Amino acid sequence: MSKREEDNERTNAPTPGGGSDPVHIEEGLCAACDNRRQVSSGRSVFVRCALGTPGGPFARYPRLPVLECDGFCETGGQ
Ligand code: SF4
Repeated sequence: MSKREEDNERTNAPTPGGGSDPVHIEEGLCAACDNRRQVSSGRSVFVRCALGTPGGPFARYPRLPVLECDGFCETGGQ
């Protein structure tokens, strides 16, 4: 793996010019959370938290992978 690919993986950025290659994002709990929103901007993909507000307890763009979160709501759960 090249240094650039390692950096992209660490920062959750897609590989530039990646074409149809899937982007691997280590999201942790967010991957299975109803509050997860995916935002794409050009060549970048971000996970946005629907609970995130300025100054609030949840980051709008959480640092991934999220391993513990009080706002976690399992997708399809009740
Ligand atoms: S509530 Fe927590 S686990 Fe769910 S999307 Fe937001 S940061 Fe991720």
